[in-house]
Amino acid sequence: MRVVKKFGGSSVATTEKIKNIAMDIAKNYKEGDEVVIVVSAMGKTTDALIKLAKEISDTPDVRELDSLLSTGEQQTTSLLSMALKEQGCKAISLTGAQAGIRTGGVHTKNKIESIKIDRIEKHLKDGKVVIVAGFQGINDNGDVTTLGRGGSDTSAVALAAALKCDCEIYTDVTGIFGVDPRVYKNAKKLEKISYEEMMEMANLGAGVMETRAVEIGKKYGVRIYVGQTLGVETGTYICDSNEIIEKKAVTGISINKNVIMVNLENFSGVPKNVATVFNNLAKHSVNVDMISQNEVQNIKGSIGFTCPLTDDHFLNNSLEDIRKEIPAIEVTKRTGVVKISLVGIGMISNFGVAAKVFEVLADIDAAFYQCTTSEISISLIIKEDEAVKVVERLAEVFSI
Ligand code: ASP
Ligand code: MG
Repeated sequence: MRVVKKFGGSSVATTEKIKNIAMDIAKNYKEGDEVVIVVSAMGKTTDALIKLAKEISDTPDVRELDSLLSTGEQQTTSLLSMALKEQGCKAISLTGAQAGIRTGGVHTKNKIESIKIDRIEKHLKDGKVVIVAGFQGINDNGDVTTLGRGGSDTSAVALAAALKCDCEIYTDVTGIFGVDPRVYKNAKKLEKISYEEMMEMANLGAGVMETRAVEIGKKYGVRIYVGQTLGVETGTYICDSNEIIEKKAVTGISINKNVIMVNLENFSGVPKNVATVFNNLAKHSVNVDMISQNEVQNIKGSIGFTCPLTDDHFLNNSLEDIRKEIPAIEVTKRTGVVKISLVGIGMISNFGVAAKVFEVLADIDAAFYQCTTSEISISLIIKEDEAVKVVERLAEVFSI
């Protein structure tokens, strides 16, 4: 059997851990499997490298930064290859470039454009375990590139797509849970989750896996397994929704704390004004999320929207500009809120989901400020200090 296995930073944080992983991979190897390994940098190495760069410059040159950051993953590949040889396996470490991973885009945020798998295929044929540095590639100029933080997941799934095999992602959690077990102790691990649900969960703040990786998985039909490194429990499969027989109305609830809510009042919400507001936010790189508008024709109209709390600085600059253009506008910013999102592919065919959600809110008398829906999700902005209670009750009601 052919497989791509990816080990994240915490799983390769020490040489001891690398040796243990090597022992495990050696078992696959001795059973005759074709194994391609993708690794992240050891522990917090990438953070440490960024810190070094910042000691030199506030705005490090991005070509050099990519070159620097790529060394983190390369350390792990070489060490793991040595460890595998100690276990009697044939093995070879490859940088992203050596593995044929071509990228396009801008430094530090590149995208994989193609993978030329000839070299990997040759090494597999020669009976070697192939260890590829995650998070990196090479661009048309022949420069080393990186894929953005957390990018090794993408490297792994893209390689599995090119090599036409499954992808196993090993991390420090035992799988994907319907609700974060730190928030809700009775949370259950999911046996399977569809690509679509996983993408919504990740986008909406679940943070288990990189969204881009799941997108690639969906596009090329790569089955992705997420499980604990060297763990015994079975993890979770991210797969096609056809594989999921019983489509639950709600598969998971995610909580995103990185939210700020803004209300703009006392201005006429005619299209020209609305365009002024959102153009300005865009100009200041504020990543706008949920939008609602009341009383379009009324001079006392209002618009509400949310954006990441981490964009607060950009937001303040933008609001200053907006006030200059529409002087009467009244601005209220609300922090201490979170966005909770219920995600489920079964929402397409089940009705009454929203009704149940609002019943729970009414029952515990929890305030909500904004609500948006997609085909397979309902998102609400609620008070941060009411979030745990709300999520617990919703989890009970929808049995997740
Ligand atoms: N080492 C990189 C990071 O810390 C890539 C990864 O781990 O996926 O973001
Ligand atoms: Mg990661």
